[in-house]
Amino acid sequence: MLDLLLPQRCIVCSVPGGQVCAACTSALRRIARPACACCGAPTAWPVARCLECAGRRLAFVRARAAVEYDAPVRQIVTAWKERGLRRLAAWAAAVVADSLPPPDTDCLTFIAADPDRRLKRGHHPAEALARELSRTWGIGLEPCLVRIRGSPRQRRLTRIERRHNVAAAFASTGRAPARVTLVDDVYTTGSTANAAASALREAGASKVEIVTFARTIRIR
Ligand SMILES: [Zn+2]
Ligand SMILES: [Zn+2]
Repeated sequence: MLDLLLPQRCIVCSVPGGQVCAACTSALRRIARPACACCGAPTAWPVARCLECAGRRLAFVRARAAVEYDAPVRQIVTAWKERGLRRLAAWAAAVVADSLPPPDTDCLTFIAADPDRRLKRGHHPAEALARELSRTWGIGLEPCLVRIRGSPRQRRLTRIERRHNVAAAFASTGRAPARVTLVDDVYTTGSTANAAASALREAGASKVEIVTFARTIRIR
């Protein structure tokens, strides 16, 4: 409904037109190579593990993201999540498909929604993005995960608290395919992706990959 009622202006620069104008779309900071082969953080040269993920036990083989989670992208993602601008999923999927080659995988799935938040918002951005990517890439979508307990909002927690908070937050809905690609809107610390990937591994997946629209860039 909000999509129809609000005047169409670019979320970032307010020019009339689409939800994100062409200029702001082309100004997105794409995550350029080289990057860490594991967590996808941009690095000065190609590395197997970077400072951000070295020493962490990760349940996924690699994570890739299309754009940096900078100020304009934060505005877009907030509008997408909180203001219910659902058409942004198609726009974000187009940016992802334009930035990343399709994963070599048996299916796409998405980070399961917190039931309370899903109810409040009436939509789940990660699921919508996965659905659009499934169509674009011609890869089947399977809802493999559920949240097994609600987690307090992550935003105000420290990185360590976040990791504890999401540990054991997910369960699989059944036996997982061998190769699964998990879709989410933003990769921040990787702790949510890792917890979800662990649940898929426990359910029989041997290779879990992460694809997100945006990624926090911490180390340069
Ligand atoms: Zn704009
Ligand atoms: Zn890394």
